[in-house]
Amino acid sequence: MPDYDSYDLIVAGGGTAGCLIASRIAEHGIHPKTGDRLRVALIEGGPYFIGGQQEPRPGYGATGRRQAIVNINYQEFRAEPWPYDGHQNKMMGGCGLHWGGNAYHPIKEDFDHWRWETGVDWDEEKFRSASQEIREVYNIHPAPEQNMTRGNFLFRDAARGTGYNVGPAPVGRSNCIDCGYCGSGHLCKYDSKGSSLYYIHLAEINGVKIITDSEVEKVIIEKQGGRAVAKGVHYTRHGQHNEARAPKVIVTCGTAGTPVVLMRSGYGSREFLGDRLIVENNNVGRHLDGDMGHGVNALFDIDIKGDRGGVGRYFFRMMGSMGYQTLRINDSKMSAVDEAYPHVLALHRFAPDLGWEHKEYMRTVCRRFGNISASLAAAIWDKGVVTPIGKFVYNREDARVLKSLKEGTELIVELYEKMEVKPVKIDRKPPKRFHIGHQTSSCRAGESRKNSVVNSDFESHDVENLLVASAAVIPRGNLTSAHIPTSLVAAYAWRRIVANHFTRGV
Ligand SMILES: Cc1cc2nc3c(=O)[nH]c(=O)nc-3n(C[C@H](O)[C@H](O)[C@H](O)COP(=O)(O)OP(=O)(O)OC[C@H]3O[C@@H](n4cnc5c(N)ncnc54)[C@H](O)[C@@H]3O)c2cc1C
Ligand code: SF4
Repeated sequence: MPDYDSYDLIVAGGGTAGCLIASRIAEHGIHPKTGDRLRVALIEGGPYFIGGQQEPRPGYGATGRRQAIVNINYQEFRAEPWPYDGHQNKMMGGCGLHWGGNAYHPIKEDFDHWRWETGVDWDEEKFRSASQEIREVYNIHPAPEQNMTRGNFLFRDAARGTGYNVGPAPVGRSNCIDCGYCGSGHLCKYDSKGSSLYYIHLAEINGVKIITDSEVEKVIIEKQGGRAVAKGVHYTRHGQHNEARAPKVIVTCGTAGTPVVLMRSGYGSREFLGDRLIVENNNVGRHLDGDMGHGVNALFDIDIKGDRGGVGRYFFRMMGSMGYQTLRINDSKMSAVDEAYPHVLALHRFAPDLGWEHKEYMRTVCRRFGNISASLAAAIWDKGVVTPIGKFVYNREDARVLKSLKEGTELIVELYEKMEVKPVKIDRKPPKRFHIGHQTSSCRAGESRKNSVVNSDFESHDVENLLVASAAVIPRGNLTSAHIPTSLVAAYAWRRIVANHFTRGV
């Protein structure tokens, strides 16, 4: 008996893309020779708080799960985090559980950018049924007017008055009560936010073997003559070393985790790997992209929130000096990574010194605090690198990016000053440094190994039987954030992978 487990397919990384791909391949794929159902393993580094029961519905029924869901946000996972940069939710479901629900579906320009960047053959027509799936699962729709606050309307009217084409930002939620507690960092206690829960449930009912608390150390890559072939993975569970083997391995460990796993497997550039190199590809861990943002805070002397939770937003897109900028308003919403928590506002530069005046400020500040953010998307810049230990390295003081964010800051200040009710304080300073969010492209798809790691069908250019998906394969940062692009590309990926590898006779 071999001392490893065998499957037909191993998916490494149970996040947004991993849950989607594993569940759909288990549902639709068959063994190409026998026609049998596939034995699929999904291996995730974090725990499985929400599973193990028929209905993954944290808002109903199971008290323990409900408590876990309400109180979890991605920051709590910093207690036992991945050592990677970026926000990595280390649990079954990945960032697909705690993302902000701002659901921008890729637009024509995104497809144009992807093709132009690396020569992928992706277009809107090929992605049609994937798009339909994602629109339905996430219930993508414009934020309804009843979710908009007075702050939202002040922003909308000032921007429209300046000639911008402002519309409600799309959301991915169903039956949302606008409690406002999920903006970007909390899981939804009512299952309203479109999330990995749907696909985790699908994985359960399609017999996917879900292996959690298991860090994939590396893909087993064997040299056979001149070829390199993936045979399975090594992973560590509760301190114990394990091996699993399968004729196909898909790595879906996100933008930071995917290149780390590939480099630990000996797959990457000579510069990074030295004598640990087994298969050379200079694009593993390179081209790190995403969007760069800056929020301009303001304090009003009126309540701009009212009785709304604050998940609605208006937004518009425009061209800045080096790329597209998206402007959107957040007024004072309760959210783990935004600015409007009381304990954050208590120490904000708008806050008076401690004393009666501070108490007076704290009485109402959560309803008077506004934020409009500019985000620079799909910029042409020098891009970054993910190192073998998952650190993001790029020039955080790139003068062109800072210039563009300064233009965004000035425009936002102008909009505040055009509002029917003007703020009493505005944080006017442009940023001196920036960081990228919604990170993508660290193992991108493209036409050849000269510019990418996998082809348009997600197959490694260099290692047979190895495939890669997740935000890492998106050829370039998007105009549409990252969650829906990642899910859309994953929904396209499972279709291609089933057609190419898990259909009778292929
Ligand atoms: C706070 C926050 C809010 C966001 N809000 C929005 C938003 O509103 N709109 C939007 O468009 N985008 C948003 N995003 C971005 C979006 O959620 C991500 O881009 C997307 O979910 C990435 O999906 P993924 O599959 O690439 O990675 P993930 O969902 O991160 O999945 C990667 C999985 O791999 C696992 N893993 C990593 N390494 C290993 C290993 N070695 N072994 C085993 N498992 C491993 C991780 O634990 C994780 O579960 C947000 C992100 C954050 C952090
Ligand atoms: S606002 Fe509340 S109900 Fe709506 S998706 Fe967020 S947490 Fe769920």
